[in-house]
Amino acid sequence: MSSATVPAGERAAAAATAGSSGGLPKPSPLYAAAGLDVWTMMNQAAASVGAVNLGQGYMSFPPKDFITRAAQEALAENSHNQYAPPRGRPGLLEQVGARFSRLLGRDIDPGSELSVHAGANEALLSAFTAFLEHGKGEEVILIEPAFDQYTPNVIMAGGRPVYVPLRVRTTKDPAREVVSSSDWKLDPAELEAAVSSKTRILVLNTPHNPVGKVFTREELEEIGAVAQRHNLLVIADEVYEHLTYGIEHVSIATLPGMWERTITVGSAGKLFGVTGWRVGWAVGPASLIAPTLSAHTRIVFTTNTPLQEGIASALCLAHDNDFFNVQRSEYERRRNRLMAALDDAGLPYVVPDGAYYLLANAASIKIPKDYEFPSYIEARGYNFKLAYFFIKEFGVSGIPPTEFYSDAHKALAVDYIRFAFCKTDEVLEEAARRLQKLKTHLQCSD
Ligand code: PMP
Repeated sequence: MSSATVPAGERAAAAATAGSSGGLPKPSPLYAAAGLDVWTMMNQAAASVGAVNLGQGYMSFPPKDFITRAAQEALAENSHNQYAPPRGRPGLLEQVGARFSRLLGRDIDPGSELSVHAGANEALLSAFTAFLEHGKGEEVILIEPAFDQYTPNVIMAGGRPVYVPLRVRTTKDPAREVVSSSDWKLDPAELEAAVSSKTRILVLNTPHNPVGKVFTREELEEIGAVAQRHNLLVIADEVYEHLTYGIEHVSIATLPGMWERTITVGSAGKLFGVTGWRVGWAVGPASLIAPTLSAHTRIVFTTNTPLQEGIASALCLAHDNDFFNVQRSEYERRRNRLMAALDDAGLPYVVPDGAYYLLANAASIKIPKDYEFPSYIEARGYNFKLAYFFIKEFGVSGIPPTEFYSDAHKALAVDYIRFAFCKTDEVLEEAARRLQKLKTHLQCSD
């Protein structure tokens, strides 16, 4: 008898029995197993001892006045309080289109080659959702360290992540000497070896979080050649395109033959220091943006209207204020302050050429054998212990970058801690003062 022919009373009784014996439906293993995320865990540990928080990459300084004013004015306008079109508010599309026409050196059609999202995160999820099919074992290549949303987003969209790590190639000893983020290299042969008949997408993040690497034109050409040989879609996460220090940011979409296969993702949160506003975008040919927009429409339908309007005005005003150049030099100053503090403390690091993170190499730190860790740290391995030790002993918090690696490659990052320098001068000065304690620690463990 099919369920349709079971009398309703019997069906209800069977359902009630199943309910009482089995309890509520079980959560999906993807979410059930997840404990505290790394950000919450480290923020809590930092707060518990009043550590200077250089962990999460949020700005500890307010946005410039013209940016917040733009949002306040947008909110005061009655017509800005209802649903926006799923693709985005026309005024924002126009401004983002103009920006990318300049950046990519081509006329971007805001009506077909752009979509506005709830932050870059949702643009990425929409792109994965649009181009992966469930149940087909389709693969996505992620370059490690990989921003921690990529893996769960690929899995949610039905894909399978395949990892290729950057490898440090230098004659220097990174445990003792300062190295460059350009020493972190992607081996094109290793990349190509990771491609299979099931590979559909390659995710490229430049400028890179957390290494601070800005991929050179030559490196991008090699990556682009692999994508073209295997007909891959490239999702270019360029949320830090506006923050490079004395080095040119190149969009892979500008290379010959790459526009057609690239979705470039950006973030108003990063661009204007307003990560809580949740506005981002995707740029690419209409054939790639249409399905991305379609997925976006089913995921969140549309992005909040007033802050889209606020970002549209801010983009317009940014040029009059020379905002992006001023901002870049402010970040460069913050980066230099943190590097000087680590130089002084005697801890080597990776010089970031872009973004606002720095990897410090803490291989020389010796954690006493009997040092006590809370169980939630103990369970997460050495790199988490190192970050916790920094919080407790030096009063400065960072993020354990093994969180940006698959299990097979975590060993590549166990000695590093990621510090974010999108912080006020006061915060960075206090961090510098506290990091002085490292000197004694390092001398004692020599
Ligand atoms: N990509 C990278 C590499 C990031 O570092 C971040 C934010 N930390 C994002 C995407 C997400 O950006 P948004 O806040 O606009 O969602």
